[in-house]
Amino acid sequence: MSNVPQDPVCGMPVTRIDPPSENYRDRVFWFCSEVCAGLFRAGPAPNTPI
Ligand SMILES: [Zn+2]
Repeated sequence: MSNVPQDPVCGMPVTRIDPPSENYRDRVFWFCSEVCAGLFRAGPAPNTPI
């Protein structure tokens, strides 16, 4: 598998089976944990690759 999504908050590859996700600007982002998802929801992620 080479299509592993990347957590835009911490930069880690998201390898969880059922990771938390968020829609942002018509894109879906996945997160390694609810902690990172919460940080993303709290404000625009500075590392978001858009
Ligand atoms: Zn993370």
